[in-house]
Amino acid sequence: MPARILDGIAAANQIRAEVAPAVATFTSRAGRPPGLGIVLVGDDSASDIYVRGKVKAAAEVGVRADLERLPATTSLAQLLEVVDRLNRSDVHDGILVQSPLPAALGDDAERRVFDAIRPDKDVDGLHPVNVGRLVQNRATLVAGTPSGVIELVERSKIPIAGTRAVVIGRSDIVGKPMALLLLHRHATVTICHSRTADLPTVASEADILVAAIGRPGFVTRAFVKPGATVVDVGINRLVDQVAVDRLFAPGSKGRETFARRGSVIIGDVHPEVAEVAGALTPVPGGVGPLTIAMLLKNTLRAAEERAGTAGGAGGAG
Ligand code: NAP
Repeated sequence: MPARILDGIAAANQIRAEVAPAVATFTSRAGRPPGLGIVLVGDDSASDIYVRGKVKAAAEVGVRADLERLPATTSLAQLLEVVDRLNRSDVHDGILVQSPLPAALGDDAERRVFDAIRPDKDVDGLHPVNVGRLVQNRATLVAGTPSGVIELVERSKIPIAGTRAVVIGRSDIVGKPMALLLLHRHATVTICHSRTADLPTVASEADILVAAIGRPGFVTRAFVKPGATVVDVGINRLVDQVAVDRLFAPGSKGRETFARRGSVIIGDVHPEVAEVAGALTPVPGGVGPLTIAMLLKNTLRAAEERAGTAGGAGGAG
C-alpha cells in the first residue's frame, strides 16, 4: 500500500488560520502589529525567493515584515549595526537574518550575527540562550523547520512517545533541534551523520525517520522499516537529466516537471520510499510550508512575550 502523504500545505494553512486572529488581538491591544525585521545580504536567488515568501506570508496574517536588503559588499560590522538597530527597535519583535551569508563575510560570520540577535527576538531559535532553553525543554523560540515537523506529525495524529526516532543530519538549524524536540516528546532518538557506520541499518530501526541531509534521493527503501513515518526535510534542485532519470520513474510527475521547466525539486528521500513507508512528507509541499508558518507563530510569540514582560508592545521606533 502506498504511504499516506502528510500534507504540509494544509497543516501550514491551519497554523496560519490560528495565528491570524491572535495577531489581530495583539494588534488591537498593542496598537501595532507584531513586527518582523528580515535582513537579506547579497543576491542569492534562492534566498531571495525564500525571503519574499516570508514577507508575503507575514502580510497575509497581519504581521508587519520589513525587509532590509544589503549589498553583497556589506561588511560584517555594517551587518551587525543593522542587527543592533533591529535589537533596539520597538516595532520589531522578531529578527531574521537570511542564511547563507555571502562567503566573503568570513567563516564565523553567521555565528557572530546570530549571537548578536537579542534572544527574545531570535525567531529562528539559533541564539545559544534559546538553544540552551531547548536542551532543557523550556524553550519559547525554536527553529521553524524542526518545530514545523513536530506540528505536522502531531496534527497527523502520529504518536511520538515510546517510538524509535532516527534523525539523519546534525546541523544546528535542523538535525540537532529536531532530535531534541523528539526526545522531549519521549521518543528514543538516534542522531546520524556522515560518519555513522552502516547508516541504512540504523535508519531502518526507526518508527519515525527524519532526513535532513541535503543529498537528493539519498534515503532509499533500504533505510526504511515498512510502515515507518518518513519526514523529508531536504530541498534539492536537480538540473541534470541523468540524475532526474536515475531518481524519477518514467511517466512520473518529477520527470514531467523537469521536461517542462528544465529543473525539478527533490528531497533527501528517494521516491521509491513511498512504496514502503507508512506515512511520508512530499517535497515540495511537505516540511517547507511549515517552516514559514512557524516563523509567523514565533514572531507572534516573541511579540506577546515582549509585551508581557518588557512592555515592548507600544510605541513607535
Ligand atoms: P547541513 O547543515 O549541510 O547538514 C547536513 C547534515 O547531513 C550534516 O549533519 C551531515 O553530516 C549530514 N550528511 C551529509 N552527507 C551525509 C551522508 N552521506 N550520510 C549521512 N549524513 C550526511 O544541512 P541543513 O541545513 O541541516 O539542511 C539539510 C537539508 O534540509 C538541505 O537539503 C536543506 O536545503 C534542507 N532544509 C529545508 C528546510 C525547509 O524549510 N524544508 C529548512 C532548512 C533546510 P556531518 O555533520 O557529518 O557533515
